[in-house]
Amino acid sequence: MSQQAQYDSQAINQMDKDHHLHPWQIFDVFREEGALAIARGEGCYIYDTDGKRYFDSVGGLWCNNIGLGRKEMAEAIAAQAYEMSYASPFVDLTNVPAAKLAAKLAELAPGPLNHVFFTCGGSTAVDTAFRMIHYYQNCRGKHEKKHIISRMNSYHGSTYAAMSIGGKPGDHPPEFEYISDTIHHLSYPNYYRCAADGQSETEFVDALVKEFEDKIAELGADKVAAFFAEPIMGAGGVIVAPEGYLKRMYEVCKQNDILFVADEVVTAFGRLGHWFASESEFGIVPDMITSAKGLTSGYQPLGALLFSDEIWDVLNEEDSGRCFAHGFTYSGHPVACAAALKNIEILEKEKLLENVMEVGPYFEQQLKTLEDLPIVGQVRGRKFMVCVEYVANKETKALFPEEQDIGKRVSNHADELGLITRAIVHLNVMSPPLTMSKADVDFVVSTLRKSIELTIEDLK
Ligand code: PLP
Repeated sequence: MSQQAQYDSQAINQMDKDHHLHPWQIFDVFREEGALAIARGEGCYIYDTDGKRYFDSVGGLWCNNIGLGRKEMAEAIAAQAYEMSYASPFVDLTNVPAAKLAAKLAELAPGPLNHVFFTCGGSTAVDTAFRMIHYYQNCRGKHEKKHIISRMNSYHGSTYAAMSIGGKPGDHPPEFEYISDTIHHLSYPNYYRCAADGQSETEFVDALVKEFEDKIAELGADKVAAFFAEPIMGAGGVIVAPEGYLKRMYEVCKQNDILFVADEVVTAFGRLGHWFASESEFGIVPDMITSAKGLTSGYQPLGALLFSDEIWDVLNEEDSGRCFAHGFTYSGHPVACAAALKNIEILEKEKLLENVMEVGPYFEQQLKTLEDLPIVGQVRGRKFMVCVEYVANKETKALFPEEQDIGKRVSNHADELGLITRAIVHLNVMSPPLTMSKADVDFVVSTLRKSIELTIEDLK
């Protein structure tokens, strides 16, 4: 039953405005507009404090995989909080859900990725990977292998190291500082925007691979420790690289003794219809996988770094006297791990990965019909990870001026019509719960069409 009547929306907004600094807060806009306060969720729907219902096509923040408001999740969380709400994970202590979850993840992950380090979310998983890479290379006596290579427009989180590995120009405002001497960004594999005139997809991939090889040659292979890549770039605009790109980048890593880190914070736990996309969707077995989000479907904050037997064997060398001096108070938090176990059980029991395999292609196909609209440049993505890119001119692909905030204009209309989409400058991105049906797809696509048409009217 709805609880909306109990909320004083104005008071909540005022408290929020006065005291709550939001991630990515745009100060001038927020000062005027404040935030939309969400009070309740059920399945794919969220309700604001006035009781208005929205279909959340973003799945929170790419994280709500099983849908909101699940009683069995609340019960599993409550039961674990009652049984053992906190146990230190340090040195030689563990807890039951953490041990069970580590084993379950080893079972679900590609072949040799049998080891897990628990973190508080995706950024700390990436940060842990960053630190483990240095630790591993030093343990091997490869003290010069310090450099990290990633891509422009990638997003890997917002701790100091993760944000430095990320390459979104908009996330690197000059007021912040970044690690710049040992982190390098390659071009990103956006064929629609970055291919030269007349360049085929194969030629485009050849050029990207060559850029990687040239960068390694410039730095020296003995100095490059790891390459980080999201299998499909998420916040950077849902970029699905042309066929073969990821595999060839992986092969370059293998040829040069460079670790391949797949950042699967978004792509794992069913978003692309697989537990992990690297192997099942792209045919590669990375050395490390970072994950979070769909691991608990956002019911509890939790991240996990999965890493290979090969890395483990180096870390775990007998009589080395080593200590892995890294970790968090909440690593392997029992309540978060219990939530992850129940979440995985629900994904399995309700065959939600299979639902993504069935509904995903329909979502892609229906969304693609929006390309007949005059400001839609490209609809792209795969299965339950998609986006619409707006252009001022379809022929030249010229973008609208940033201050026109085109994605936000569309998403504002969508909000009014009961659909949440995420605006990122000239994009709207979507990553709905994996429970989404074909009827839901029809609602999302028709509502988005209407929102774009209303925006076109505004622009006249
Ligand atoms: N990596 C990727 C690919 C992400 O998309 C995100 C968040 O969106 C992160 C890492 C950071 O995760 P978190 O926000 O849980 O720290």
